[in-house]
Amino acid sequence: MTIILGLESSCDETAAALVTDDGRILAHKLATQEAQHRPYGGVVPEIAARAHAEALMPLVDGALHEAGLTLNDVDAIAATAGPGLIGGVMVGLVTGKALAHAAGKPLIAVNHLEGHALSPRLADQSLQFPYMLLLVSGGHCQILRVDGVGQYRRLATTIDDAAGEAFDKTAKLLGLGYPGGPLVEQAALAGNAKAVPLPRPLVGTADPHFSFAGLKSAVMRAYQSGQYSVEDIAASFTQAVVDCLIDRTKRALEGNPGVTALVVAGGVAANGAVRDALTQLAASHDLPFVAPPLWLCTDNGAMIAWAGAERFRLGMTDPMDVAARPRWPLDPTAEKARGAGVKA
Ligand code: AMP
Ligand code: MG
Repeated sequence: MTIILGLESSCDETAAALVTDDGRILAHKLATQEAQHRPYGGVVPEIAARAHAEALMPLVDGALHEAGLTLNDVDAIAATAGPGLIGGVMVGLVTGKALAHAAGKPLIAVNHLEGHALSPRLADQSLQFPYMLLLVSGGHCQILRVDGVGQYRRLATTIDDAAGEAFDKTAKLLGLGYPGGPLVEQAALAGNAKAVPLPRPLVGTADPHFSFAGLKSAVMRAYQSGQYSVEDIAASFTQAVVDCLIDRTKRALEGNPGVTALVVAGGVAANGAVRDALTQLAASHDLPFVAPPLWLCTDNGAMIAWAGAERFRLGMTDPMDVAARPRWPLDPTAEKARGAGVKA
């Protein structure tokens, strides 16, 4: 049995966790920076980096204390090395390097997206490769076929905004606040999803990708028209996002027979309407639907520790001069998607 310490600091969540290679979570600690970023309506990179620098070591100490362990009991240290806001990534990676150096333990530089991609196997030890992953977070919207540790085929990505970003921008537009996803979901519960005619960008096309920018503009026009309630706009917007996610994921499933499950990860997976629609989609393809518990869907340290455990098992460790990377696609062979603010 090996024990991995995992560090996460790529966005606005600072986290540390201890996980075993047989899937036990010995401790996980997390500090969210939501309150610090709220006045600005979004994540401010420098505030984020400073907050990670303050929070990370106390969380590491807290996790070790909770598990009743010292750094000497840990077999390797895994830290997010990208992609993400570079200041924060550097705080976590350099902390990981320093701890690894001081304790004489191996370092594992983890791709944050790999953390999300493999976290379902921490939640469900029976999940086998290859599986289809819909990764829907604040920074990413991708469909990946997960063939093995380090083996990812990116089948689709967004050509403009990520799904969570669309939720956040819609919330801001509707005056609901930050972070937007849960507030839009709450408003949508009291609205009519058919009330506002909104586009479903790229749905039904041969293009495999996602696009949410046009939807966001349509939401703005609907709001400014004064014809609709905030609740109806929130419900109709949510339905449009769900329709886009389902159509694109269905297309990916049809082109990739032989996957063992449909899996979702990322903060948008917290949305009940998204989960319900994906549950139905999986059932219609005779596939199990795996959704990690909500705390494991959003950014956390356990998924980084687990990705570290999966890599460590295969002998994949990294040198001390490994670089922090603001961009780091999981599938380096994937073609660049066309579009304006394309995300890797
Ligand atoms: P992550 O980037 O994985 O940490 O997830 C954060 C993103 O998930 C943000 O863009 C949130 O707005 C979004 N999100 C969180 N909860 C919900 C929800 N209930 N419905 C829709 N989006 C959500
Ligand atoms: Mg994330």
